[in-house]
Amino acid sequence: MEKNCQPMITEQNVQLLAFGAHSDDVEIGMGGTIAQYCRQGQEVAICDLTKAELSSNGNVELRQKEAWKAQSVLGVKTRIQLDIADRGIAMTDENVKKVVSVIRKLRPQVVFAPYYEDRHPDHGNCASLVKEAIFSAGIKKYQDELNLPAHKVDSFYYYMINGFHKPSFIIDISAEINIKIESLNAYESQFSKQPGSIDTPLTNGYLASVLARESLFGKEVGVEYGEGFISEQPLLIQQLLREKK
Ligand SMILES: [Zn+2]
Repeated sequence: MEKNCQPMITEQNVQLLAFGAHSDDVEIGMGGTIAQYCRQGQEVAICDLTKAELSSNGNVELRQKEAWKAQSVLGVKTRIQLDIADRGIAMTDENVKKVVSVIRKLRPQVVFAPYYEDRHPDHGNCASLVKEAIFSAGIKKYQDELNLPAHKVDSFYYYMINGFHKPSFIIDISAEINIKIESLNAYESQFSKQPGSIDTPLTNGYLASVLARESLFGKEVGVEYGEGFISEQPLLIQQLLREKK
């Protein structure tokens, strides 16, 4: 388990790398998909850009403990938390370089970020920063902070945090919905009312709304639960017909 900032990241090849602005973003948007790929034995990593130090409820230490618990529920071995300031996810050279270093260290096939149409500006800013960094990570002469070799990502998709948007594709998470909810329940300070906690959109039925949304996505494709993703590029279909029996 990786608990420190980027100088401590060990070089490896992961299949999937999901970025979020705050710990819990990735679990809300695609916890089921992550659990599914971890169960298949694929290497999946999560990178939170901030330590969510401005959260209305909880503090950095508690939120980190909750994040490690949530990732272990999903089966994720690598979670990185960068030190970009909460509410400070600006498109600066310094921030792009930090994200490029993560991409070049972990060398993922597929990268995910929050969909940019979201009521929380940090989620949209995270999307822009990751998109920029993916492009720079593939440029040979672009130097990141750690001077790592270039890495080209195969695919980049957006997952959804707040709201409901028309997805480009849906992943069936019917078998993983309980694991997803369990991972979200690890964030007690965020999703349940604690003594002295402040009322936020998250403490008032947020998990029920996530469950309802994933049910609706599932209905769209004839399964029980699904997670929706958005692609800016057309998707290549390898197989149009079912295999002959
Ligand atoms: Zn967030």
